[in-house]
Amino acid sequence: MVRSSVTITRVELAELTGLTQPSISNIVRDLIADGIIHEIGSTDSTLGRRRKLIAISPANRFGVGFHLGTDTVTCVAIDLTGGVVGREVVPRLPDEEWDADQLALRFEDFTAGLNMPAGRIEGLALVTPASLPDPGSEPAYDSDFSTVRPELEERLGAPVLIENDAAAAALGEFWSRRVSREQAFACIYLSTDIGAGFVFGGALHRGANFGAGELGHVSIDYDGRKCPCGNRGCVQQYASVRAIVAAAREDVTLRGRLALDGSESSAFDAIARAAVNGDADAYQVLDVAAERLGAAATSMVNLLNVDRLVLTGPGVARAGSIFARRLRTHLDRTAHSRQRHQVAVELSAQPRDAAGIGAAALVVQASVAPGHSSSQAA
Ligand SMILES: [Zn+2]
Repeated sequence: MVRSSVTITRVELAELTGLTQPSISNIVRDLIADGIIHEIGSTDSTLGRRRKLIAISPANRFGVGFHLGTDTVTCVAIDLTGGVVGREVVPRLPDEEWDADQLALRFEDFTAGLNMPAGRIEGLALVTPASLPDPGSEPAYDSDFSTVRPELEERLGAPVLIENDAAAAALGEFWSRRVSREQAFACIYLSTDIGAGFVFGGALHRGANFGAGELGHVSIDYDGRKCPCGNRGCVQQYASVRAIVAAAREDVTLRGRLALDGSESSAFDAIARAAVNGDADAYQVLDVAAERLGAAATSMVNLLNVDRLVLTGPGVARAGSIFARRLRTHLDRTAHSRQRHQVAVELSAQPRDAAGIGAAALVVQASVAPGHSSSQAA
């Protein structure tokens, strides 16, 4: 509650939590002793007695996260408020194996360059895409890090957490936006594939075996395109970065006008840039994808009664407004709860770094709110 309120008094905490004043005083005293919160001035005395305001102490501890992408590794460090205190993107060599040794060196290299007191870094989280491996192909690395993790924890002397990109991004947005734990909060992560993450009651919702959030495999057409998952009409066959690039490459006029022959991310970038610079055909490709994503998002919002939704991931980095606009109209028109409350649709401020920031947020949350963290590390 202190985190989401920015500043708050003990009296307000007692009112909001239903705990007694003495209980709040004890808890606040312990948290101040731990350095997690501190007093930062007083309320205005014109409204009666001046009361001390308390807030999170940002630099009390830090979390570090690595987002292991296809061709880059995004390294992020955040403080206790979710503020980014360090960020570095390094290329990932083709066929590079991530062993404990290499990850430990990367961690040491990254943290050495930041002005963080030793002993305040609470751990490292590794985040990877949640996508299904292609049937028959060998995974590029020990994808659940089952052998790497114990070795890495020993090297670093700190916990190592593992998570998928969409779930991590949701927790990162939850921290950096100071979302209240009362909100039913969801995040859509638009990348090569599509994922979602949910924070309910202040904790990530993970499902039976950390598989919650497969929004990309919500079918929007039971007789539609085949998906490697075995289903038909999965929304990521229509609205993922991969699907959007494929649709643009099939469009003869677009193919002649835009540079679409490079990597998937450079082709997508060309489409998004053209769309926001007035290219009607490029806009159309993204708008159709956004409309389809809207259909799947409505099902998700209805199932989970979400009241706040953030769009993030590299897919919304440049032309996110097209997706946000479509989703808002779709939800305003079709969401089951629209008569009772409007679903807030927001765009991430750092969509490309969201998974890395989220990874670091996993570490911070596990450190200060262990009851709300049930990462695979547990
Ligand atoms: Zn599927």
